[in-house]
Amino acid sequence: MHPDSREVRRASDPGNANLANPRRGWGLSSRIVALSLVLLLVVQAAVFAVVQANIERSARQQITQELRVDENVWKRLLDQNAQKLNQAAALLAADFGFRSAVTSGDTATIRSVLDNHGARIGASITALIDSQMQLSTAGEGQNPQALQPLVAQIAARLSRATAGGQIAFLNQVPYQFVLVPVRAPVLVGWVLMGFPVGQALLDDMRALSGVHVALLSSVSSGTGSSSPQVFASTLPAQSIDPLLQWETRSAKGGSDTPQLLVAGESYVVHHVQIATLNAPVDQLRLQTVLLRSFDEVVAPFRQTQLALAWVTALGVVLFGLGSLFLARRVTTPLRSLVAASEKLGQGYYDTPLPVQSSRDEIGDLAIAFDKMRVNIGAQQSEIRQLAFWDRLTGLPNRVRFRDAVHKAIAERQVPGNPASAPADALQDGLAVVTLDVDRFKLVNDVLGYAFGDQVLEAVAKRLTNLGLHANDMVARLAGNEFAILLTHSNAQAADTLAHRVLKLFELPVAIAEQTIDLSVSIGIASWPGDAGDADGLLSRAEVAMYAAKTRTTGVQRYTAAMDSSSSLALSLLSELRHALEHQELRLFLQPKIAQLESRPKAAEALLRWQHPVRGLIQPLEFIPFAEQTGFVRKLTLWIFTEVARIWHTLQNEGEPFQVAINLSTRDLLDPEFAHRLDVILAQYQVPASGLCLEITESAIMDDPQRALTTLNQLHARGFKLSIDDFGTGYSSLAYLKELPVDQLKIDKSFVMAMEKIEGDAMIVRSTIDLAHNLGLTAVAEGVENAVIYHSLKKLGCDEAQGYFISKPMPADQFAVWRIGWNAKLTDNRRDFGQSIPMPLA
Ligand code: C2E
Ligand code: CA
Ligand code: CA
Repeated sequence: MHPDSREVRRASDPGNANLANPRRGWGLSSRIVALSLVLLLVVQAAVFAVVQANIERSARQQITQELRVDENVWKRLLDQNAQKLNQAAALLAADFGFRSAVTSGDTATIRSVLDNHGARIGASITALIDSQMQLSTAGEGQNPQALQPLVAQIAARLSRATAGGQIAFLNQVPYQFVLVPVRAPVLVGWVLMGFPVGQALLDDMRALSGVHVALLSSVSSGTGSSSPQVFASTLPAQSIDPLLQWETRSAKGGSDTPQLLVAGESYVVHHVQIATLNAPVDQLRLQTVLLRSFDEVVAPFRQTQLALAWVTALGVVLFGLGSLFLARRVTTPLRSLVAASEKLGQGYYDTPLPVQSSRDEIGDLAIAFDKMRVNIGAQQSEIRQLAFWDRLTGLPNRVRFRDAVHKAIAERQVPGNPASAPADALQDGLAVVTLDVDRFKLVNDVLGYAFGDQVLEAVAKRLTNLGLHANDMVARLAGNEFAILLTHSNAQAADTLAHRVLKLFELPVAIAEQTIDLSVSIGIASWPGDAGDADGLLSRAEVAMYAAKTRTTGVQRYTAAMDSSSSLALSLLSELRHALEHQELRLFLQPKIAQLESRPKAAEALLRWQHPVRGLIQPLEFIPFAEQTGFVRKLTLWIFTEVARIWHTLQNEGEPFQVAINLSTRDLLDPEFAHRLDVILAQYQVPASGLCLEITESAIMDDPQRALTTLNQLHARGFKLSIDDFGTGYSSLAYLKELPVDQLKIDKSFVMAMEKIEGDAMIVRSTIDLAHNLGLTAVAEGVENAVIYHSLKKLGCDEAQGYFISKPMPADQFAVWRIGWNAKLTDNRRDFGQSIPMPLA
């Protein structure tokens, strides 16, 4: 048989499985692309910001520089203008006609000359001032009353000015004034000329240096409430208001923006204060504002910035494509690896990974991954093999067997017709037969594990050659335990098969020139009668098998009474506990007679349970169960204590009397056991030599090593040791020699039948000889009649026990019985050497 790997696979079809899960959220490649783009953009933005800041800084420096130059140009322009006026006025003052008119006081001529001359040079104000600095004649169209105060304010200061003209307000309008002396030849007066400082001059300035100029009055903070006023400007008309507002804000404590923003264009502003001769309105001062467009200066750099932006955009595209390519290069193979590992996760190890063309890290990863797939596949099938198959015999193991039973039951449980199938309908029933090789541990211990393995292989071979139905299955459940699933069977058919197997094992097994006798214990449980499911069926077959082992019956069909896990058993356990605590247990004694003088030399302690409802219960009804559960250890201690308690009352003067107590496997496996007995002996002052401990062969053979340890401890303390039920087990002679025992107790099955079956008589005889040869005493149990008693005596058997002498009796009746027995021995003068005592009980 070969492992059917398909069974352990998931039932889902790989084609339908979501091998390529739709990626949730961002995949790796989009993340790589996004990250590189973000990084690129961050770098570019930083470059952009630095460039921008540099451009603005240098632009501002440049403009500031230019504005400083502009300021000089503006001042020079004002100077030039004043010189021009001065020359024109000097020309007038030197005019002969004018001078004579002044000397002669010809006012009409003076006025006419002033007007003509003024008109020619563009002076708005012309006047003649006398040597006492009083207005003498005003030009045509000028109001002498208005002019008079101005003359008083500025004439004296103007006359002292060395060069150029001075600016003064007249009617709140700024004018540039010049004052030139008129000499004939002595000073006879002064010519005053005023020119408006206005649009024409500003236009000249703009034409000259390309700067915007505005002439405006500024108001000092003392009268901050009055707003500045524009006299002239080269700015477009709509820019005047924003300029004034900006100026007002600046005057009030600094502007919020360093630059003036007008109609989307920003200007750097530079103020040039202009000294004036008078301030007609309170604190009115004149200033020129020079404005240079920031944007104009920056414009050529904007080109560079635009180019940079284009380069950035191109970079983004190239970077995006490049990183996308790289990311794909990484993620495409990764994705196929993911798909492959998902397939692995589902248990498919057969599909090779697509081969990577390039030998880079990813290619290496794919190769390593594929290696891993192959290795895991191999391991997986190995694990599968281990999980479901037994390595040694190649048979299915317990798991697989259980599955098969489960499946077989499920197949029969047609809906609507559940486990109600008739148990004896061959077609519909199932049976599980479990089989345990007896004393296999001994084989292992004595002949070695390698030999033990060969024995198991031989057993497996025998079982597989039974010629079973195609759907039947032979499995190895554990160590030396095998099982057979019989489909289309029932308890009866299984029983037949079991006996066939038993017969088969009567033939010795030959291994490596050795032959070995094997025996097996077989348990049978059938469906649906004994259990409804696989686990139940299996465990009940095992229960039956253990029963077969303890009863040495070979084959045992399951019955509810055996089941230590049934509720009955559980309640039995609690009842037993109750029995122990409520003094329901009874100690019975059965005498052992010394053959030579026919006197009671010993007795065997036997347990009874005085059940309040069920009456007196025999030990076979609860001891096997107590052994299974381990409770028997409590029972042993109880009976040991009871015996110790009455031990002194049983002693006869001059004739030591020994009481035998039965031990179980569990006692022998308890490392503390001997010590527990010490405590009880000390408590009741009983010598160990006053007690005999009966141990069955099988109790020793369950775990000979540990049993021997305990037996040695018991022997060392002086207990007599007896092998109970001798002859039913298979202890080898060599082994027997090692045991520290004093007595062989021949099993009653041989003794009871020795008068009828020659073979049994022979066994009894040779056992007695064997005992004596080994220096042991021989005891026969099951002495039921005089014939047996007599022939045992002839054979030299040392002691006899049986119904012929007495049935087990309550311990408190034993003294009375013994008196009666001894009395009969003497009173009736019976010679037990010749005649035979009658059973007394
Ligand atoms: P065993 O140790 O072989 O005890 C002898 C059994 O044979 C007793 O059965 C006894 O009544 C029975 N017997 C004695 N003479 C005759 C006879 O002439 N003919 C027949 N047919 N039977 C005879 P019992 O008392 O029913 O005990 C059965 C078994 O229960 C014992 O077999 C022993 O294995 C177990 N047992 C009894 N008491 C204890 C105990 O205190 N501890 C342990 N571990 N086992 C006990
Ligand atoms: Ca016994
Ligand atoms: Ca016995």
